[in-house]
Amino acid sequence: MPRATCLTLRPAALRHNAERARAFAEGAQLFAMVKADGYGHGLGLAARSMVDHVDGFGVAVLAEAVSLRHGGIHKPIMLLQGVLDEHELSTALKLHLEPVVHSEWQVDLIERSGDGLLSVWLKVNTGMHRLGVDLDAAPAIIARLREIPGVRLAGVMTHLACADMRDDGLSNQQVSDIARLAVDHDLPFSAANSAGLVRYPDSRGSRVRPGIMLYGSSPFADRDAHSMGLIPTQRLSARLIAINTVAPGGSVGYGATWTAEKETRVGVVSIGYGDGYPRHAPNGTPVAVNGQRTRLVGRVSMDMLTVDLSGLPDARVGDEVELWGDTVHVDEVARQCGTISYELFCQVTARPRRKVDGQT
Ligand SMILES: *Cc1c(COP(=O)(O)O)cnc(C)c1O
Repeated sequence: MPRATCLTLRPAALRHNAERARAFAEGAQLFAMVKADGYGHGLGLAARSMVDHVDGFGVAVLAEAVSLRHGGIHKPIMLLQGVLDEHELSTALKLHLEPVVHSEWQVDLIERSGDGLLSVWLKVNTGMHRLGVDLDAAPAIIARLREIPGVRLAGVMTHLACADMRDDGLSNQQVSDIARLAVDHDLPFSAANSAGLVRYPDSRGSRVRPGIMLYGSSPFADRDAHSMGLIPTQRLSARLIAINTVAPGGSVGYGATWTAEKETRVGVVSIGYGDGYPRHAPNGTPVAVNGQRTRLVGRVSMDMLTVDLSGLPDARVGDEVELWGDTVHVDEVARQCGTISYELFCQVTARPRRKVDGQT
């Protein structure tokens, strides 16, 4: 029996979700965010799967953009953190990337060393106070960028801090600030992440930048992915490698965090935090054995975890356990763990075998 701990990836689901995002975008350019290794799906796999369904891609750092170009992706690529030095600038020019300019020092860099045609997006801080020039400084920087030979200012952009929350006080103000700046300077704007795209139609502007929804997960705590027509793009699974009967009062795992109240069959599953399953998943986190839901009991260890088989008398060693995917949605696991699916996706380690649906 091979270990069979596996991350199954689904190109067709990525395409489906890109089409869902396209429907929400209502004519705006659709740029798929594939940073952080395509939200853990594999940068090349995510980009190749969606390339015919999107207008371009977004990555955080230069190495990711280089990898896309080397992988044969010719569509526009937004470089969200922009170029960090002259070397990066010359690579961005050579590879026809669209760097974001978020700070005045980047304007200086481009003014000093730019040599060739470069499309840039100016990032403006409208309330998140992370990256972006302040709103009142933007007009002067727009004017500066417009004077640099070879530079084309493609638009102004901002990032929404709270669009995933209900009735947040910030999103409408952020959207109206960036839209007004765009109109004043006769420029396109881009503001929508997944949450903005679905919940704030005015944030769509001329280019939308969804990430998480493409990966089948909801950007909202109070709305599930299925209700937006999104389907799971990955499935994390493993096998039962042992089954124990624990007597009443017997505890399971490190720290003895779970104790059997009655005689309980407990399955040992060959996956742990060394595979990227979250160690802080609490007792009761859902898992599915042979497609039937049950729960985690005891602490997750490096190479294995333990599950309650009381309701599953037919479960046998070798049976399949889904940690997230179709029966247990990744968003449920994330909620139990006090985190978001983004983090679970990014944490899967190299150890689980990758299997691509549709390939053998
Ligand atoms: C990651 C990112 C997005 C996508 O956000 P999601 O919440 O995954 O849709 C959009 N814009 C920027 C600048 C980002 O960094």
